[in-house]
Amino acid sequence: MATNRTFTMIKPDAFEAGNSGAILKMIEQTGFKLIAMKITKLTSEMAGAFYEVHKERGFYKELVEFMSSGPIIAAILEKDNAVADFRKLIGATDPAKADVGTIRKLFAKSISANAVHGSDSDENAQIEGGFFFSHLERV
Ligand code: ATP
Ligand code: MG
Repeated sequence: MATNRTFTMIKPDAFEAGNSGAILKMIEQTGFKLIAMKITKLTSEMAGAFYEVHKERGFYKELVEFMSSGPIIAAILEKDNAVADFRKLIGATDPAKADVGTIRKLFAKSISANAVHGSDSDENAQIEGGFFFSHLERV
């Protein structure tokens, strides 16, 4: 299994604000290579399935509504130590707690509208990439 890949989404808030280009630039300048990328819009069913691990949490409904509220960019990224390095680049879930210079510190509006998603493990990176991209798109 590839351990040098992660999966990301530029969330509806950042896409709508026109921050996709700036975020992709930070991602590339940190050394991540784009493997696959698309603009799409999640239905509430798809957003619910993607974040199913959180379905018992109080914020689940808000999360599903937000993630299906507008277009997103989904992408598979490659770099040594991809999952951990990408989590470091995006910063804490709550932008108020994110380190200076991280994507969420710069672009997130709130803990729910927090600009980007990043996989939390190699296993989930693989699953999440497969949610959006076929085998042929993941070479
Ligand atoms: P992501 O999985 O999107 O990269 P994360 O791993 O930093 O974010 P998770 O705990 O997996 O954080 O939560 C998933 C998403 O749910 C968060 O990014 C955020 O959009 C939303 N979320 C998490 N906690 C809260 C909260 N307390 N209130 C509102 N929304 C929340
Ligand atoms: Mg997460």
